[in-house]
Amino acid sequence: MAEPALEFESYLTAIIESSEDAIISADAQGRIQSWNPAAVRMFGYAPGEVIGKPATWFIPSERRAEEEALLNRIRSGERIENYEAQRLRKDGTLVEVSVSMSAIKSFAGGIVGASMILRDITQAKRMENADSLLAAIVESSDDAIVSKNLDGFITSWNQGAVRMFGYLPEEVIGKSILLLIPAELHQEEARILSQLRAGKRIEHYETTRVRKDGSLVDVSLTISPVRNAKGQIIGASKIARDVSQRKRSEEALRRAEKLALAGRMAATVAHEINNPLAAITNLVYLLGRDPSLSAENRRRVEIIEQELERVSSIARQTLGFYRDNSKPSEFRLAASIDETLKLFDRRMLSRKIKVIKEIKTDGILYGFQGELRQVLANVLANAIDACSEGGQIRVRLEAGHRWNNECKAGVRLIIADNGCGIEPELKSKLFEPFFTTKKEVGTGLGLWLVSSLIAKHGGSIQVRSSAHSGRHGTVFSIFLPLQHMVGNQAA
Ligand code: ADP
Ligand code: MG
Repeated sequence: MAEPALEFESYLTAIIESSEDAIISADAQGRIQSWNPAAVRMFGYAPGEVIGKPATWFIPSERRAEEEALLNRIRSGERIENYEAQRLRKDGTLVEVSVSMSAIKSFAGGIVGASMILRDITQAKRMENADSLLAAIVESSDDAIVSKNLDGFITSWNQGAVRMFGYLPEEVIGKSILLLIPAELHQEEARILSQLRAGKRIEHYETTRVRKDGSLVDVSLTISPVRNAKGQIIGASKIARDVSQRKRSEEALRRAEKLALAGRMAATVAHEINNPLAAITNLVYLLGRDPSLSAENRRRVEIIEQELERVSSIARQTLGFYRDNSKPSEFRLAASIDETLKLFDRRMLSRKIKVIKEIKTDGILYGFQGELRQVLANVLANAIDACSEGGQIRVRLEAGHRWNNECKAGVRLIIADNGCGIEPELKSKLFEPFFTTKKEVGTGLGLWLVSSLIAKHGGSIQVRSSAHSGRHGTVFSIFLPLQHMVGNQAA
């Protein structure tokens, strides 16, 4: 009668011996009774080294109490499955295991010991960590990373996508990707999907997408097919990079090139005009002093002189691009203000514009006087243009300071007018080259030149303006430091 039982026992033994999992049994006192070959492989101990030792002894000491509590639950008849734990190998390294434990009962029903099955989950853990690492990389990416299925419905949405497009994951997951594509580009999606179905990857495809608020964003897309374990294409992952900034700098570069060209041309024209202009001015002066001139012709010559003065001042102010080839020197800004204001005397007089001058400091600066005179002239010219007849311009020079990282001593020059003012939406464009509201008569280069000349002298310029019908006017506030490196020379 013992035959079938024996057969069954050897059958069980064979399973235990050939198992990939470590199978260990312990007696009622918790001492190890058996230790299969998988346990030898997993932990490095031979059966002879462990049998008779407490089942808890190869648990890392800080976790031992926790597992002893588990053993007590086994004693009360509970089964524990897939409990994640760690065990110490003979060489001192740790192995991640999943433990299942149950009580071994006698025929009479009493608990005579416990069986433990331990599965090495180090690899699985590593994969899990790799997955969460990947997930963390995706989440922290600056690029928008989005996946969709082959019908074009969004299946995942990272933080980069939230930042780029303004939608939260719950607002877009399950919706069509067309949500992000401007209507006029919808046919693009069909083409992308058919390429993906054919297993093709799309790289650095530059296009435009729409944000939640309706604004457009220039993106570079890389789209790759996503396959399941069987290799079938089940969807696509898209990485979108915001290239608006790059596009903008390309645009700025183009503009700078255009500008450099315009600048060179203007300087050449100014130079070519100035010489004949000087000759004409001299000749007309001599002509005007000819005593044989009739009264009528003398008046004509006077008009010619006035118009000539206008032409030269236009050449000075707009075409001038003041090419100051001299070396930087020390000069009084207060004196430059007087000289520059004089240039505008006639224009202001004819338009009954009043100037209030408040000079509180000499403003001894070191730099290119001609260039700073150009700054003054351009800002003043704008103020005059903005004023209606009877307007008022205030020019104030005072000692000033500016704090960046350190306190810098300098002068503050304020030029304020009660002219038409600047609409708030135009403020950001003022210093851009070619921005003008003056149609044919404006070049839009005045303030652009001003800002570059001030920057060259280490200064800064701010503008406040109001275009309200009640209180309108504009204040330009320019700070120029006393100490600054101009060119290669220390100030
Ligand atoms: P331009 O004078 O040739 O138009 P600027 O670069 O000097 O070019 O000025 C650009 C624009 O800034 C002007 O067209 C004008 O709209 C605005 N602006 C500048 N200064 C003033 C001011 N004091 N009051 C009102 N608008 C101003
Ligand atoms: Mg101007």
